[in-house]
Amino acid sequence: PYGEIADGLWLPRGGMYALVQALQRLAASLNVRIYTETDIKQVIPDGRRCRWVVLPDSTAQDFDAVILNADAPAARERLLRDVPGAPRLPAMTPAVLTFYIGLRRPPGGLGHHTVFMPQDARTAFRDLMAGCRVPPDLPFYVAVPSLTDPTLAPDGQATLFILVPLPLPAKCPASGADDLVGFGRGYVMRRLKRHGIEIVEPDILFETAWTPRDWESRFCLHQASAFGAAHTLRQIGPWRWPNRDPYIRGLYYVGASTVPGTGLPTVTISGRLTVERMLHDAR
Ligand SMILES: Cc1cc2nc3c(=O)[nH]c(=O)nc-3n(C[C@H](O)[C@H](O)[C@H](O)COP(=O)(O)OP(=O)(O)OC[C@H]3O[C@@H](n4cnc5c(N)ncnc54)[C@H](O)[C@@H]3O)c2cc1C
Repeated sequence: PYGEIADGLWLPRGGMYALVQALQRLAASLNVRIYTETDIKQVIPDGRRCRWVVLPDSTAQDFDAVILNADAPAARERLLRDVPGAPRLPAMTPAVLTFYIGLRRPPGGLGHHTVFMPQDARTAFRDLMAGCRVPPDLPFYVAVPSLTDPTLAPDGQATLFILVPLPLPAKCPASGADDLVGFGRGYVMRRLKRHGIEIVEPDILFETAWTPRDWESRFCLHQASAFGAAHTLRQIGPWRWPNRDPYIRGLYYVGASTVPGTGLPTVTISGRLTVERMLHDAR
């Protein structure tokens, strides 16, 4: 909120992916080689020194240092199986169900950002964090980015993004249920209608949804948590998952669950901190 009040709200021209492309161009100009569609299968230390990275074709490459950007607790658990000395597993933020919809025309009654709050916010957010149940009155967020940048949709059409937070499926089986998409969609559409916003089926040209399980498997997220380790008092600053592995030399972490925290500006700072620690160790 400070950034928004002090500097205003900004949208990269071409959408969020334009940021990825800009970073890619910058990296290429510095002769950094990027391998896409290359899921790392395993990281193998040599004693207490980080050493080999196993590629999808099962070949192993030797490195002086490895930075894991996959969600730190999940990466440590899945990519360094049975390697001792992992930091304590953190408590995580909720999961999300997301919808991506292409519309024939912009929906009336929605701005670029709209947040729909529950009547009883205290109970709903407690349910989400404690994970005991899907709150009966869910908050959700709707974005229509093509209202601000019309190039994000074909002429006259619109793109709609909907984010519904849910308790972690590990704590609340309903968040991993087969009918979750139908439930979430029905809930959102009914609530929109209550506010006079009707999205009629003939206007929907494209629609897809990602469940918490999709997010978990696509991005290697610990417990399917969308935003990483929670910013509780015991999980910030020196108590947060560190950028440098305490047990294995040459192994580093960057991103939402590690220092300093979650969110795009914060993970960018995480990148700088991790590089500083690597340079310090290399001296
Ligand atoms: C739906 C949603 C909406 C959000 N909205 C906002 C917002 O409005 N503002 C905000 O500030 N933050 C927002 N966030 C949070 C923000 O997106 C995250 O905190 C941030 O992207 C995390 O960055 P990261 O580098 O830690 O992880 P990621 O951006 O997930 O990057 C990790 C990368 O590692 C790759 N990877 C994982 N496993 C492997 C493997 N085995 N081998 C190779 N590569 C691998 C993944 O594919 C991914 O590309 C949102 C998050 C979600 C899920």
